[in-house]
Amino acid sequence: MTRRLPVLMYHSVAERPSASTRRLSISPNAFTAQLELLCSEGFVTVTFSEIVDALAGMRALPSRAVTLTFDDGYADFHEVVLPRLHEFGCTATVFVTTGWLEDAGDRRAGPAPGKMLSWGQVQEIASAGIEIGAHSHSHPELDQLPDNKLLWELRTSKDLLEQYIGVPVDALAYPFGYWSRRVQGAVRSTGYRSAAAVANVSAQIPQDRLAVPRLTVRRSTTPNVFRRLMYDRRIAQTFLGDRSLTAGWAIVRHAKYVLRHARLSRSQI
Ligand SMILES: [Zn+2]
Repeated sequence: MTRRLPVLMYHSVAERPSASTRRLSISPNAFTAQLELLCSEGFVTVTFSEIVDALAGMRALPSRAVTLTFDDGYADFHEVVLPRLHEFGCTATVFVTTGWLEDAGDRRAGPAPGKMLSWGQVQEIASAGIEIGAHSHSHPELDQLPDNKLLWELRTSKDLLEQYIGVPVDALAYPFGYWSRRVQGAVRSTGYRSAAAVANVSAQIPQDRLAVPRLTVRRSTTPNVFRRLMYDRRIAQTFLGDRSLTAGWAIVRHAKYVLRHARLSRSQI
């Protein structure tokens, strides 16, 4: 029997999120209810790197394991999520966009989509046993970048995080879930051991460790939908509107990259 390992993808957990984060955010009460459901049904939380090692056969997992991941680095992870994880004895992985952090200073990379963590909070979160992963420095569409910019994004976020938290940063989450074989090659050569994608299916063994699929949790995720995420094999149907996750859309994105760079090289001649 194939074993399914759900890896959930969260963003902001807030009562009143900013307009740009609203759709992908959930309320603190909904998050608490999800933790209650997971614990009452015997799920044990493990970090993203732990679940990737298990997918590679390098680690045993409890019979019901789940991974909670949080993208972008919203300040509400420190204020809202961390105390709840502590209360329920859960762990998680936070994927930080380093150029968006509250005190990024002269390394700031454009406006952030909401109130973000500070470096001090990232350090506190790491000390609390939560895994910190990278989510690039400026949150670009990695598959559309030329090689030099792609490598810079991957290296800068990894180096800064390792400098501040003092432990290796092994995991990356692709901004917007966009990746390609070329991006995966750059991720591997930069020293990451695993990468989180978005495919809205559960991870299975064997698994490509540089494209581990995650399930999106959002404001419209009712308790029934959440339960389906954990158990239902046909969950992809829950996400039929997510065109960015289809194979056809990946081909369109690759064509876009090729066209853009053909145009660039012509203009350089
Ligand atoms: Zn993101």
